[in-house]
Amino acid sequence: MLILVFSPAHASPWEQVTQPSSQAPQSIGSYANGCLAGGASLPLSGDGYQVIRSQRARYYGHPDAIGFIQRLGALSQQQLSTHILIGDMSLPQGGRFSSGHSSHQTGLDIDIWLKLADEPLSQTQLAEPKPLSVVNIEQYQLLKNNWNPRHFELVKLAASDEQVARIFVHPVIKEKLCASEQASDRAWLRKVRPWWGHHYHMHVRLKCPQDSRHCKPQAAPPQGDGCGAELASWKPQPKPAAPKAASVKAKKKSPKVMPEQCRQLLAVNGR
Ligand SMILES: [Zn+2]
Repeated sequence: MLILVFSPAHASPWEQVTQPSSQAPQSIGSYANGCLAGGASLPLSGDGYQVIRSQRARYYGHPDAIGFIQRLGALSQQQLSTHILIGDMSLPQGGRFSSGHSSHQTGLDIDIWLKLADEPLSQTQLAEPKPLSVVNIEQYQLLKNNWNPRHFELVKLAASDEQVARIFVHPVIKEKLCASEQASDRAWLRKVRPWWGHHYHMHVRLKCPQDSRHCKPQAAPPQGDGCGAELASWKPQPKPAAPKAASVKAKKKSPKVMPEQCRQLLAVNGR
């Protein structure tokens, strides 16, 4: 009998791990090359939030991430009369996904959809939710019919949380946030960073927890609200006639070395 084994091109051993480790919570390594000891699972629903696509089992995180989502959910319910939809967090012991993300490895990255669920979604809708984009990608413009002033409030609430280090949104969304905020209250905008892809969800990145001594933080974002020249530089420019041969040559990247503590975690799991 022929047995076909599904083996994705970039299979990750971390996806075979089904439970958090029983150690004290620790985020290890960097956001895009690390792992998570003593992770916690986010209850699939709570005040003001629901987890989508729970069948993918990516609802694990450092306890700081669980606490953050519960705080933001409660605020969304109280102040915005809605539920936030929680997408990918981390695998039970963090590490690399086989597809979709290079970060989310240390239990500190959280995708939150921009689709606001004023009525909680049903189980069927939660399993296969339909995203809501707020950007016309081709035209590099906000989709005004999909944008809601509560999106502004939601990003601001998240960015104002002490534990949040950065929030990634599509540059067009950042432009809208920059234009909507008053002159006197712009400090939170510094944490909101433009990045491609984030037009139907925002990606919240928490700071390294204080007692995670092997956690590698990212440098702080540049000073200022990031609304000027840097943001303008994201706007697509007309393509130059012919690229120079030298600049086309891709730099060879050396493979990342996994932190020793993560190799130990995998070894305990027999991977
Ligand atoms: Zn993300």
